[in-house]
Amino acid sequence: MADMYLSVLQRSIDWKALQPENDKVTILEYIWIGGEGQDLRGKTKVLQEKVTKLEDFPIWNFDGSSTKQATTESSEVLLKPVYKCPDPFRKNFPNAFLVLCEAINTDGKTPATANFRHVCSKIMDKALAQKPWFGFEQEYILLKPEGVDLFWPLGFPKGGYASPQGQYYCSVGAKNSFGRVIPEAHMAACLAAGITLSGLNGEVFPGQWEFQVGPVEGITAPDQLWMARYILRRVAEDFGIEVTYEPKPVKGDWNGTGCHSNYSTVDTRGEGGFDVIIGMMDKLAAKHSEHILIYGKDNNLRLTGAHETSSMKKFSYNVANRGASVRIPTVTRDEKKGYFEDRRPAGNCDPYLVAGMLVDTTVNDGVLGAELVKTFGGFGMSYLRRGDSLF
Ligand code: ADP
Ligand code: MN
Ligand code: MN
Ligand code: MN
Repeated sequence: MADMYLSVLQRSIDWKALQPENDKVTILEYIWIGGEGQDLRGKTKVLQEKVTKLEDFPIWNFDGSSTKQATTESSEVLLKPVYKCPDPFRKNFPNAFLVLCEAINTDGKTPATANFRHVCSKIMDKALAQKPWFGFEQEYILLKPEGVDLFWPLGFPKGGYASPQGQYYCSVGAKNSFGRVIPEAHMAACLAAGITLSGLNGEVFPGQWEFQVGPVEGITAPDQLWMARYILRRVAEDFGIEVTYEPKPVKGDWNGTGCHSNYSTVDTRGEGGFDVIIGMMDKLAAKHSEHILIYGKDNNLRLTGAHETSSMKKFSYNVANRGASVRIPTVTRDEKKGYFEDRRPAGNCDPYLVAGMLVDTTVNDGVLGAELVKTFGGFGMSYLRRGDSLF
């Protein structure tokens, strides 16, 4: 019934083609990371003037008591715009932007729960001369609603399971490939938004896909990944489909979901880069548990050593080996310079934490990384903790 009302409304006015009466009108979609660290939130601000520069977008606020980021008594949390791109969902409006924001407590300084961009940004500033590049491979699984709070993988029969994995990866055809319209629409929307989306592919689990963002330099890389995640949820919403980034949504002999993070610096990309990378492996080995701690909730269910993962108990690296914590691509070995792939981050990782830790461990002195781990723990999120049996 609800669907019928919606379709009648859509036909009564062609609202996607409507233009604002005042052509200076600016529509800003403010987006921020909610208190659970996974929940992206957004609300719309309409300005009766033409504003196009990020610096000119006003500070705004929201009710943090509704996002687990404040109490009812002191509920206001500030929104500070930090990254913007054209809004691909509002192409009919000449001035419409998606605006990623840092959520900040009312003191105007301290970050709200689950907002780690500020520390990541300090780490990037410190490492500016090394021009760190990131390429994220974001995997995800499409889910269809099957009832109240029940979502089931696209490609699985309701309440049941698909044939064992093997034929789904990079597949074509209705037997093995599920929901392709969503990654296609997502790619179009990301490119319309100016995001450096660099590819997509079908993955090992049915209804699982991957898109890549990068290489992009510095803090803009995690900014773009968060924006691309937002765009994906919005695109999928149009089709009545959900997206999960959970590292191991289906237990058993099924692949999990990762966010392999590819990384390079001026020194790894230059002459002698391979040796620089090997030096970085020692530093990463020494900080393995700190990295694992912040690489995503429930990642222990994924990093078992099976299904193209490494065991999370021990750091390892190798050339071309998809069972290692870090894979050095063959091309990097052959050219003796380039990048490496950190395969540990879970699909639901916060790329501000991942990018920040990578740079802090490999290039900086480890001080801000320790702060990241500490503030992270301070937020009391249910990620892995030191003392969990895995360490
Ligand atoms: P895989 O073989 O692991 O599936 P993909 O092709 O999916 O690899 O992803 C490779 C990623 O590496 C891309 O996101 C790309 O942007 C990134 N990348 C390529 N070169 C660099 C580099 N020099 N520094 C950082 N990232 C890079
Ligand atoms: Mn990939
Ligand atoms: Mn993949
Ligand atoms: Mn990969």
